[in-house]
Amino acid sequence: MAATAVSPRHVETSSTHINSSVSYILIEMRKQFVLLGLIIVLLFGFHTLSNRADGDSDNSPKVVTTTAVKPFNKSQYSLTDPSSIWVVVNKQRPLDPKPYIPGDLQTPKVALRQPADYSSMKLRKEAANALEKLFKAAEDNKTPLRLSSGYRSYNYQVSLYAGYVQKEGQVSADAESARPGFSEHQTGLAVDVGMTNATCDVEQCFGDTPAGKWVAAESYKYGFIIRYPQGLTQVTGYEYEPWHIRYVGVDLATQMHDSGVQTMEQFFNLGDAPDY
Ligand SMILES: [Zn+2]
Repeated sequence: MAATAVSPRHVETSSTHINSSVSYILIEMRKQFVLLGLIIVLLFGFHTLSNRADGDSDNSPKVVTTTAVKPFNKSQYSLTDPSSIWVVVNKQRPLDPKPYIPGDLQTPKVALRQPADYSSMKLRKEAANALEKLFKAAEDNKTPLRLSSGYRSYNYQVSLYAGYVQKEGQVSADAESARPGFSEHQTGLAVDVGMTNATCDVEQCFGDTPAGKWVAAESYKYGFIIRYPQGLTQVTGYEYEPWHIRYVGVDLATQMHDSGVQTMEQFFNLGDAPDY
C-alpha cells in the first residue's frame, strides 16, 4: 500500500526538482555556448592576426602549385677531359692530350657507308647506343639514315691534313680539314650522317632534305646537336654542316634546344673560336 501512496506533495517536489534540473542544464548549456563563442572569436581573431602578420590577404590563393624546376648544372661534366661527353673541341681547344684514343669504340648496329670493321664506322659506346635509337626513329619517320663517318684517329687526321696541305696549301687545308688533335671526330662522339641513298652526302643541301630537317628538329631527343649550325661560323670556326652531329647526352642537348642556344661555345661562355 505504501508503494502506491504517492502523495501530491511528492509529485510536486518531483516536478520542482525536474524544473530546476532543466533550468540548471539550460544554464550550463548557455555557459558552454558562451565559452564556445569566446573560443571561436579568439581563434578567428588569432587567425586574422597571424594572416596579417604574414602579409597575407584574402585575395591571395591559399593553394600555390609550384613546379619544381631543377637548375641545370653546367659543371656536371668536364669541358676539357677528352673522355667527357661534354668535351668542347674547336680551333682554340685541341684535344688534351692531342693523340687521345677513346677506350670504348664500337660499331653501332645501323646502316653504314663503309665496312663495319673500319675505324671510321666506330663511335664511343654511349654515342653508338644513342645513334642506334636516333636511326630507328628516323626509319620510323620514313627518312632512313646511314653512318657516313664517325671516329677519326689522330694518325688518320695527320695524313688527311698533310694531304690537303700538299695539294692546296695550308689556308685551303684549314678550311676543309681540322688540324690533327683539333678534330671533334677524334673524340668518338661526332658523327657525319647521311641519307641511305647518299643524296647530298656531306653537303649543305642535306639540310634541305626531309632527312636533314628531321635530324635538325629531332636529334636532341637522342642526345645529339647540330655542332656547326648555319650563320655561326664566327663562333664554331666551321661552315654550316647539317650532317655533322655531336653526342652530348640528352640532358645537355635538351637544355640547349629548350634555351635556343645552338653552340657549346655560347652555352658554356667559352668565347668564339673562328680560327687557330
Ligand atoms: Zn664531321
